[in-house]
Amino acid sequence: MSKKYVYLFSEGNANMRELLGGKGANLAEMTNIGLPVPQGFTITTEACTQYYEDGQKINDGIQAEIMEYITKLEGITGKKFGDLENPLLVSVRSGARASMPGMMDTILNLGLNEDVVDVLAKKSGNPRWAWDCYRRFIQMYSDVVMEVGKKYFEQLIDQMKEARGVTQDVELTADDLKELAGQFKAEYKSKIGQDFPTDPKEQLMGAIKAVFRSWDNPRANVYRRDNDIPYSWGTAVNVQSMAFGNMGDDCGTGVAFTRNPATGEKKLFGEFLTNAQGEDVVAGIRTPMPISEMSEKFPEAFAQFEKVCKILEDHYHDMQDMEFTVENGKLYMLQTRNGKRTPAAALKIACDLVDEGMIDEKQAVAMIDPRTLDTLLHPQFDGEVLKKTPVIGSALAASPGAACGKVVFSAEDAKAWAERGEKVVLVRLETSPEDIEGMKAAQGILTVRGGMTSHAAVVARGMGKCCVSGCGAIKMDEENKQFELSGKTFHEGDWLSIDGSTGKIYDGAIPTVDASIGGEFGRVMGWADQYRRLKVRTNADTPHDAAQARKFGAEGIGLCRTEHMFFDADRIPAIRRMICSDTVEQREAALAVLEPMQQSDFEGIYEAMEGLPVTIRFLDPPLHEFVPTEEADIELLAKDMGKSVAEIKAIIAGLHEFNPMMGHRGCRLAVTYPEIAAMQTRAVIKAALNVQAKHPEWTMVPEIMIPLVGEVKELAYVKKVVVETADAIIKEAGSNMKYLVGTMIEIPRAALTADEIAKQADFFSFGTNDLTQMTFGFSRDDAGKFLDAYYDKKIYENDPFAKLDQTGVGKLVDMACKMGRATNPELHLGVCGEHGGDPSSVEFFHRTGLDYVSCSPFRVPIARLAAAQAAITDEK
Ligand code: ADP
Ligand code: MG
Ligand code: MG
Repeated sequence: MSKKYVYLFSEGNANMRELLGGKGANLAEMTNIGLPVPQGFTITTEACTQYYEDGQKINDGIQAEIMEYITKLEGITGKKFGDLENPLLVSVRSGARASMPGMMDTILNLGLNEDVVDVLAKKSGNPRWAWDCYRRFIQMYSDVVMEVGKKYFEQLIDQMKEARGVTQDVELTADDLKELAGQFKAEYKSKIGQDFPTDPKEQLMGAIKAVFRSWDNPRANVYRRDNDIPYSWGTAVNVQSMAFGNMGDDCGTGVAFTRNPATGEKKLFGEFLTNAQGEDVVAGIRTPMPISEMSEKFPEAFAQFEKVCKILEDHYHDMQDMEFTVENGKLYMLQTRNGKRTPAAALKIACDLVDEGMIDEKQAVAMIDPRTLDTLLHPQFDGEVLKKTPVIGSALAASPGAACGKVVFSAEDAKAWAERGEKVVLVRLETSPEDIEGMKAAQGILTVRGGMTSHAAVVARGMGKCCVSGCGAIKMDEENKQFELSGKTFHEGDWLSIDGSTGKIYDGAIPTVDASIGGEFGRVMGWADQYRRLKVRTNADTPHDAAQARKFGAEGIGLCRTEHMFFDADRIPAIRRMICSDTVEQREAALAVLEPMQQSDFEGIYEAMEGLPVTIRFLDPPLHEFVPTEEADIELLAKDMGKSVAEIKAIIAGLHEFNPMMGHRGCRLAVTYPEIAAMQTRAVIKAALNVQAKHPEWTMVPEIMIPLVGEVKELAYVKKVVVETADAIIKEAGSNMKYLVGTMIEIPRAALTADEIAKQADFFSFGTNDLTQMTFGFSRDDAGKFLDAYYDKKIYENDPFAKLDQTGVGKLVDMACKMGRATNPELHLGVCGEHGGDPSSVEFFHRTGLDYVSCSPFRVPIARLAAAQAAITDEK
């Protein structure tokens, strides 16, 4: 039997997401549970894949199947496609497996042409409605299918309103709209060179193709990359009979959440617009009314809607985000999905649902997206300064958090300024999907137009980014890059602070303070900790970072880099002296100056970690990073060393490397200068002994990590230096302290010979940053130049430095674990690359059987939650 590519809503259900997409599966589910849904059918994601396989064509077989379902839909609705008696109009809607807000466009009122619109106008006795549908259809079809006219059409509408002396779209008459439709079609013809299509079937296939095509548009590609959605999934297409919210004042359209998506409060939240259609609510063209007002204007539909909300929440056990339309007082449901929410709301809703008995603790842990947590940990405005700073404006608190930055007016500027290290607040009339990258780069977003469900608000909440929307008091002058608020003109580069939790806008910069884990956050993290098997450590080089990470739940330090400790102004001279020494004695003398400094650094870190394990990595970067580049500094060093400037310059020149990433660094430094490793060993062991003496209740087991090993003999050589030095000190102190010597696995050869290396190592820590660089053969610092081209050409879907390449680098990790454990069953395994804080990578490390992941302090809660989710998934 050939594959089925089309399903009626009544043939699907919520479990068929992969095939029907999220929207299609839920339309089917709502149909099944008896909710009022305009009927239709879904063309599967497999049809999308087939479309691309067929060279961007809908093949004859699928076209025929679609037409067969149009006939079925005609039977269900009693209307006929393109008919002059009782015409069927449909919407064509995209819907991928995971919701991708604003990524793909919907076409409404498809099936209209000059003849059909006349029939509608006459039969309904409502020509205004008929022509409103038609002009909308031409507008959307031209924009989405042929990519013409969007801006120009809006200008035409504005001109028409001006000519008629009205301000609102709804004030335009049937004749005005008819005239507009004519203007739109003329514009279409002038751009495309053909008449606007009149055959509904041609319109339908054109629209379906456009949806398939939009799966591959640049915005969709960016969104997918940010949200771990594979390209291979494809999108489904929903063809649905229309419900009309634009037939008059007893009609309208709305968007609502069963709970507040910003705070999580259990209260219906949303907006409604009378005599409107489709995206009017979110487009910010007219200001919608809060959903609560709907109860006065449409008491019956509202009562019905409240019932539907309850049914849907009970059914899905989660907060729902719904789209609906009221046609002549009757409610139609057009969409439901688990609503996007701010991280704070997500935590509150999860806890509330547990308390309401709707879900259990495990489900609560599983329903929170770990990637969003870090926004909760980020700073808030300093309350004291805030109180003293005058509020210059106030608008909708669209997405919480505090943002302070310099004003910019375009997404491109936001990106460019952020790239050169400036903090910016993006101020826009309204945002559109093209602005996503700029929104990402900004600290926060302020818009003049748009409600709580506007594009800016929805996208910002998804990103966990601060957003204040709909500040109508702003007089915007985008062209000249300035705006006026509260009597003051703000120019590009002026400081502005906005609070997405209160909607307040402040003149100038307000300092921020750190957040902490408490309340619902703490509760959910507590549940997560019960389920996870992976331990979570942190990467920290200072007592401050270590203490911060402890607060976020770190169970140790997986990577403490020692080189940062050398860059302090009072230390760098000693390390430079070490580098420029001619003899071992000179070098040892310089190192002797550094030793107590390192020792006290380590003591500070041990104290901060209160007896938890700390892995200290020995000096890693090439020495040339420490030498002076300024003439004055070189002179100083020459004087200090009793050498000539020329001699110093010769030493510096001698350190030059063609490829420092693969040069004289890592354990190679310790092989050439074992005295460095000896000094660092003394500092570590003495620090541990001192701290142990102060805190007998802790069991100090220092962990020394040798970086960049590629051959077991080099590890064995450095290890010997470490062991001889450490044992002597421990013996001298009359202590029996244990310590571990391990290595980073970050060179492919180390992974390939892990069985040998494991015989010399107490632990492996996968340095997946370097391991990724060396496996791919390109450097993290240079990859930015070409990765975009690789994304565009679908060679890579993600940045392998952010998300572990499981197929290649992951294979090395997996292999090294197995080989290492085979020769050393006691081998302790961890990861300390950036990937330790990336949820999908954490899941991989869980499956691979590592003992712990280590990540930056702010990502510790993310890793804890991701590790719990990995364990929960594993159980199933
Ligand atoms: P998005 O994924 O961008 O939300 P949708 O496919 O949900 O796009 O369509 C956007 C809006 O268009 C819906 O919220 C609804 O208001 C309107 N719409 C879509 N299909 C219909 C329909 N069959 N009848 C009435 N309105 C519709
Ligand atoms: Mg949309
Ligand atoms: Mg929708």
